[in-house]
Amino acid sequence: MSAYKVADAQGLIKLDAMENPYNWPEDIKQAWLEALKDCPLNRYPDPEARRLTQTIKRLNQIADQFEVLLGNGSDEIIQLLLMALPATASVLAPAPGFVMYKQLSDCLGLNYQGIPLLADTFDLDLPAMLAAIEQHQPSVIFLAYPNNPTGNLFSETSILEIIKTAKGLVVIDEAYAPFANASFINALDQYDNLLVMRTVSKLGLAGLRLGYIIGHPAIIDQLNKIRLPYNINSLTQISADFALSNKALFDQQTQKICAERTFVFNQLNEIEGITAYPSAANFILFKTPRNKASEIFLSIRQQGVLIKNMSHQGGLLSDCLRVTIGKPEENRAFLAALRKCL
Ligand code: PMP
Repeated sequence: MSAYKVADAQGLIKLDAMENPYNWPEDIKQAWLEALKDCPLNRYPDPEARRLTQTIKRLNQIADQFEVLLGNGSDEIIQLLLMALPATASVLAPAPGFVMYKQLSDCLGLNYQGIPLLADTFDLDLPAMLAAIEQHQPSVIFLAYPNNPTGNLFSETSILEIIKTAKGLVVIDEAYAPFANASFINALDQYDNLLVMRTVSKLGLAGLRLGYIIGHPAIIDQLNKIRLPYNINSLTQISADFALSNKALFDQQTQKICAERTFVFNQLNEIEGITAYPSAANFILFKTPRNKASEIFLSIRQQGVLIKNMSHQGGLLSDCLRVTIGKPEENRAFLAALRKCL
């Protein structure tokens, strides 16, 4: 195995990690510091993070019949889900997909199966998925919606077919939901094996490390047996509760990011030799001329902009780079740097 490496972004325009580029206005920062002032750091945090959990339930209009489990980022929830499985279990996800599904499965010695997406659209290969479900009987299937790193939303009917066919759990990973306007939360009451996972990271709170998963109490109760008692620290509980109560601010930022996504997508496709793939997330995957991706990535970095080189992963990601949507001036710096490479 190799560790999940995070590139050093010092001094660079950071468009590699799907962060929200915007900070908060000064008055909101002051109100946040005020909310933190009396935090009792000498005490352990609320082990159930009750107040924050209620805020999350209210914001997402989650019905009382469902439970929510919080994690130190959704990464921790993926780890919890996989730790709950017997050592012989199989885990299935489309490929290419979010790397932590495989990384953590491998780490726990589970049988991980990555099923290739369709080459032209990056949509699910439904017959291949159903055949793999039949063959491996996976305990957990991860479907990122939208998918990272391809950025698209999988076909809803294919996802429903997978949920109906699977005997194990199906986790719809909605990390990029703020930019997508699509969700399976409303399907939770129809399927006992369905879980919906979200994070506040992409919304604009990556530094807090907070993810959550919504599902039927019978499943969430099992996950709670594995969760460490104080996994959400006091500062995160207070800060996230404060921030989510100011959601209008994030909604404005999200709108700006989505408008820029359209701009960057159109600009990329006007550059000769570049093919950008449609995205419902806050990043865009694009293909560069054959065997040029690493050279272009390095040249863009040299010009002061850090994006992500996906080409090493091969397969459908050969020749591909991924750029996170930043502020308008950051996106223009990226586009100018890319144009200079071609
Ligand atoms: N799911 C997907 C699809 C992601 O892309 C990411 C982050 N890149 C995560 C989950 C993890 O997010 P976090 O741990 O910050 O909540």
